[in-house]
Amino acid sequence: MLVESRSRSRAARLVLAMVSALAMACGDSATAPLVDVGVLTPPTAVPVVGGATVLVYELTVMNERSEPVALRSIRISDDEGQILRTYAGATLDEETLLLQRDFRGRLAPGTPLQRGDSGLLFAYLEFDPAQRVPTALRHTIELADPRTGARQSVDYTLDVDRSPPLIVSPPVRGAQWLMDGALGPDSYHRRAVLPIDGRLWVAQRYAIDFEIIDDRGRLVVGDISDNANWFGFGAPIYAASDGRVIRVVDGAPEQTPPNFPENPTIANTPGNHIVVDMGDGNFALYAHMQSGSILPSEGDLLRAGDEVGRVGNTGNSTAPHLHFHIMDRPEPLESQGVPYVFDRFVDRGIATPVDLSRGVLDWSPDVQAPRREARRLPTLNRVSGFE
Ligand SMILES: [Zn+2]
Repeated sequence: MLVESRSRSRAARLVLAMVSALAMACGDSATAPLVDVGVLTPPTAVPVVGGATVLVYELTVMNERSEPVALRSIRISDDEGQILRTYAGATLDEETLLLQRDFRGRLAPGTPLQRGDSGLLFAYLEFDPAQRVPTALRHTIELADPRTGARQSVDYTLDVDRSPPLIVSPPVRGAQWLMDGALGPDSYHRRAVLPIDGRLWVAQRYAIDFEIIDDRGRLVVGDISDNANWFGFGAPIYAASDGRVIRVVDGAPEQTPPNFPENPTIANTPGNHIVVDMGDGNFALYAHMQSGSILPSEGDLLRAGDEVGRVGNTGNSTAPHLHFHIMDRPEPLESQGVPYVFDRFVDRGIATPVDLSRGVLDWSPDVQAPRREARRLPTLNRVSGFE
């Protein structure tokens, strides 16, 4: 997989200090487990390919008491009380990351939370085109005392961020690009939560890995260890928005597919990259670029559509691709991902990975007639055309 989620910084200070809101505990206050509930960043309604709307966010539940507490279920309802989704049993285990106090380690699913431990739910809510997207989400978190079995529930209400996603131009051009790691319930980018300097960050929440796919569902022909055999290698990259280039990192060597580099750090994960200040506190990252290909210099002003460099395979990357995301700070990983949509593109259906590390997917142009899309975000493993 083409993912930075393995990256860890040994230097990262692992202290738990989540920004969160105090939940209202229901029941007997003398025995109520006190947990601190919050989100890393409030969700924004993101229109996705096909007309659905997605809310994606990470709910954190931290045990603040000395007694252990076990997460039993998390039920999410809309602002009219209708249940949208319940995470319990296997789905709770699969969608929740349990983090030891001070982020020293990750706990096995189902493990009770000791004082300072946290559960982090990767919440993903999808609404059909005809469905109303709520303005607020109510969470009912059921907890249990693992020693006595006594249960308590805690309510937490979250307002949906009303601001619309940013509208940007696609950063590549061409008829057939695989949206690897794009937004979806199973996207690896969405789960790449990193503890850095005492906070949890999901910079890659809305990231996409762009790879060219051919008519037979292949990303590469011939020897897969040769970057030049991957169709996307060397493809031009274009500015998705106006903005000022505030960071240029070049000179990192190309990796050899399909291997992950040894000992990736936070600093070298993006490989050759640029960071563009888009204004209003938004920053675009173009990562893993080909060594020596970056065209602008720090300080340059870009216009949307300007060529900025070429697709490479540098940094924490297993095959040539462009990793693109927008973030709320000029730090590729120590930031929160910001939602965006593309002004226009063509959707060509969904590809099914067969052996992604070898660039093999099940897809052909016959999967679906091209469908024009505007102001939406392509989702996981869709094939998109950008003219
Ligand atoms: Zn990526």
